[in-house]
Amino acid sequence: MSVRVRFAPSPTGQIHIGNIRTAVFNWLFARSQGGKFLLRVEDTDQERSSEEFEEIILKELRWLGLDIDEGIGGGGEYGPYRQTHRLKIYKKYAEELQEKGCVFPCFCSPDEFEKEKNPEHSYNDPCRDLSPDKVEELRNKGVPEALRFRSPRQGKVSFLDSVHGEIAFQSQVIDDFALMKSTGYPTYNFACVVDDHLMKISHVLRGEDHISNTPKQILIYEAMGWQPPVFAHLPLILDKKRRRLKKRSGQQEAFLSSYRNAGYLPETVFNYLALLGWSPGEDKEIMSREEMVEKFSLEKINESGAVFDIEKIKWMNGVYLRNLERKEFRERALAFLSGQGLDTENEKLIFLMEALQEKVNTLKELAQKISEYFEPLAFPDPEDARQVLQQDGVEKVLSSLKAKVGEVDDLNPDRAANLLKEIIKELQVGGKLVYKPVRYALTGKGTGADLSAIMAYLGPENIRMRIDETFKFLKGDAHE
Ligand code: GLU
Repeated sequence: MSVRVRFAPSPTGQIHIGNIRTAVFNWLFARSQGGKFLLRVEDTDQERSSEEFEEIILKELRWLGLDIDEGIGGGGEYGPYRQTHRLKIYKKYAEELQEKGCVFPCFCSPDEFEKEKNPEHSYNDPCRDLSPDKVEELRNKGVPEALRFRSPRQGKVSFLDSVHGEIAFQSQVIDDFALMKSTGYPTYNFACVVDDHLMKISHVLRGEDHISNTPKQILIYEAMGWQPPVFAHLPLILDKKRRRLKKRSGQQEAFLSSYRNAGYLPETVFNYLALLGWSPGEDKEIMSREEMVEKFSLEKINESGAVFDIEKIKWMNGVYLRNLERKEFRERALAFLSGQGLDTENEKLIFLMEALQEKVNTLKELAQKISEYFEPLAFPDPEDARQVLQQDGVEKVLSSLKAKVGEVDDLNPDRAANLLKEIIKELQVGGKLVYKPVRYALTGKGTGADLSAIMAYLGPENIRMRIDETFKFLKGDAHE
């Protein structure tokens, strides 16, 4: 069987981590099997769908490197791939089901339908057994009409899930679900089955939250006389307290865009998401895309919920950043920093950027650390700063540095490092009286990027100003 899988998002908002994880798994499966990865847009929720969100989806897929073989953004012979462009198709199959007697028209408003809920049978649809005369009468009155599936009242509906094994539902818990709304639009369950069948989808990989839809979809497949695809329901994504990571709870970490905006690399996000519910069976966590494609299999998808650990993805991004070649790091960091309002034309930024490559986990962190050097000097921990700066001999070191930078037009990290060495030699002092005190004098802090990179970045003029400020601080003026 040739593998054809699809990512079928509804363009109703920012992409949730759970949705994009579904896309990653589908893509990995397609690539691992030499199959096709399709993108279908499920935009039948008229009120909530928008083209803007569709654009976002495409942008995020591109960002993650999930190339589309077929569908929106990929062409193909089974289109259109946007559901609102397929209304005629759904209508045709709805009529076919009508002829087969598998469906019935329903004139209830959604509220009325809801009221009929009863514990034995989710819905007891009052329209299920309307006489043809009554149907005629309601139609003549112009009462809006939906189309519902005549669900069996006994027996069970079961399927073999590739992740969870056999899953069975008693038919009586399956309501007379709608196939077509009174607006003429199909419901998700109906459109999904028609499309999956016509687009020759072989495997449906989607979130576990869809498990309760699957028996309804199987009933439609059976009624149409179609072969259902293989189903694999992916484990839920949980937060650290093992609650479902929800879209609407405003948890920023639930959205893919948060990671892009915070300067995570797409390869980190891809790697992290791939391991969210799939384990290749070894402890290895940092894996190349090729390795993941090679090892991916449905059998290794876990059944239990996958915990999303923000600290871990941050750590992983740090590893990816540190592993980048200098040049590559420079290019990617610059691209991010320019979007953060930093002056990337300033070539000195490079010194600082490179000195920070080892010290940050995200590019946002890099931008923040760099920005600190733009800000006026401050001593967040004045006690510590005083202790270091008031050591005997430090004042002389700082004065010497001030004088030396007064004689140069410009600095690069090598020249800056040489200046400090000269001071050690000329004043015959230990490095202890130079490196840490100079760092405090220039940055207000005891740790940070490589000192010579900071000096090069600040430049002679700024260094002199900061040394003066430090003297003022030591005299007790301001700054705390
Ligand atoms: N539009 C559905 C969703 O975004 C698709 C579910 C499916 O893959 O069948 O949840």
